[in-house]
Amino acid sequence: MLLEDKKSKKQKNVRVRDIVIGGPEKVIISGPCSVEDYETMRKITSGLKKCGVQILRGGAFKPRTSPYDFQGLKHEGVKILHEVGKEFDMPIVTEIMDARDLESCAEHLDMIQVGSRNMYNYTLLKELGNYNIPILLKRGMSATLTEWLNAAEYIISSGNPDVVLCERGIRTFETYTRNTLDLNLVAAIKENYNIPIIVDPSHGTGRRELVGKMSLAGIVAGGDGVIIESHINPDKAISDAKQTISIENLSEIISNIKKIENLF
Ligand code: PEP
Ligand code: MN
Repeated sequence: MLLEDKKSKKQKNVRVRDIVIGGPEKVIISGPCSVEDYETMRKITSGLKKCGVQILRGGAFKPRTSPYDFQGLKHEGVKILHEVGKEFDMPIVTEIMDARDLESCAEHLDMIQVGSRNMYNYTLLKELGNYNIPILLKRGMSATLTEWLNAAEYIISSGNPDVVLCERGIRTFETYTRNTLDLNLVAAIKENYNIPIIVDPSHGTGRRELVGKMSLAGIVAGGDGVIIESHINPDKAISDAKQTISIENLSEIISNIKKIENLF
């Protein structure tokens, strides 16, 4: 395993432009589930910048359960995210689902997300090893710790050491929440491995009213930061509206994280 265990070395950091994930400061990644159009993305980003979000997210290629649901603006979405990120001087992260889209998209991105459904896509993971760009590797919704770490290992052993894990909840028997945010593994990874980890309380709960508390819980469990879906008009978000929070709500969550970040 190239992925180092904790006994030998100190915590590894991954740099996304000038943002350090895995250092003393907790990193806030936020933005809409989907990039919807240029103007909406600009308005959201302007709000996010003011409340201290460090990395901007927005989905361009969307892995939707139904093929009839909005599939994302694809390359046009990447272009919008790139332009808005440049205007507000924020690094950007988006999901790439297909290895064939990597070459045309990677140069416009600062970080690439591998989504939950693609954690087992070994062709994509190996291909990401050829890119000199940090990867946000979401946990498969039924993946064990070993499977998840091996997915990271695929990318690292193919030549790209800059992998950040993202706990986004797993499927359990509970249906009240969309997923069960598995903070056990956040603590376990912090305890045993030298790899940064981000917590996603949006997909981890599927309910906006739970996002604030679970963000704090994620930090207490050892998360190096959070990724949160936000929108200027959450109820109107094209995808994942029920778990999307307002900029005002996000701002409050960020100030609560700031209050406790030095303790963990
Ligand atoms: C997302 O980030 O919008 C997303 C689709 O996440 P996940 O792959 O965790 O479901
Ligand atoms: Mn989403």
